[in-house]
Amino acid sequence: MSNGMTRRERQVTDLQEILSILDKCKVLHLGLVDGDEAYVVPMNYGYEMQYGTLVLYLHGARQGRKIDLMRKNPKVFFEMDCDIEPFEGDIACRYGITYASIMGRGKAEILEDVDEKKHAMSVLMKTQTGKDFEFEDKMVAFVSVIKITASDYTAKRRPLPKGKE
Ligand SMILES: Cc1cc2nc3c(=O)[nH]c(=O)nc-3n(C[C@H](O)[C@H](O)[C@H](O)COP(=O)(O)OP(=O)(O)OC[C@H]3O[C@@H](n4cnc5c(N)ncnc54)[C@H](O)[C@@H]3O)c2cc1C
Repeated sequence: MSNGMTRRERQVTDLQEILSILDKCKVLHLGLVDGDEAYVVPMNYGYEMQYGTLVLYLHGARQGRKIDLMRKNPKVFFEMDCDIEPFEGDIACRYGITYASIMGRGKAEILEDVDEKKHAMSVLMKTQTGKDFEFEDKMVAFVSVIKITASDYTAKRRPLPKGKE
């Protein structure tokens, strides 16, 4: 993927800051390919780093458009954002909004192994709530659990302008 980010000074490369953005965002926008159209669906997520690779977990119903599309084409794109705060300026073009965001691409896999599904759901709940939950087999039987292994991603932060902090 091109890493030619405009406003490169806003790029976040510090891993601890990237992890704190992943902790905060809570909602991910999942981009899928539907023939010659794009399809984007908001979802809650969990994440973990596996040997330096970002892995995301999602869950939902076992049927529906996103699951059908993933089965046809597992290449996905994701975006998440947080720390949204509008600020004012003296003229219209100095108004703006703060943000922290992550965008990346990866491969989606619909998990079938019960232990993998339970692990994924514990990770998802930890990201969403900060708490540890354990899952029994029957609790994951009727949901689809999706694992996305990110092939690459970038992070970006726009802070408040100087003088407005
Ligand atoms: C903040 C947030 C968090 C969410 N978290 C989750 C989650 O963790 N897991 C999960 O499964 N779902 C979650 N949802 C719901 C999710 O966005 C989808 O509605 C749901 O997953 C069904 O997707 P689908 O592709 O199977 O759609 P289908 O049920 O197959 O629906 C098909 C059509 O319905 C319409 N549609 C579907 N979803 C939406 C929507 N959200 N808003 C408007 N129109 C829609 C679209 O036109 C779509 O083409 C969340 C929604 C929001 C807003």
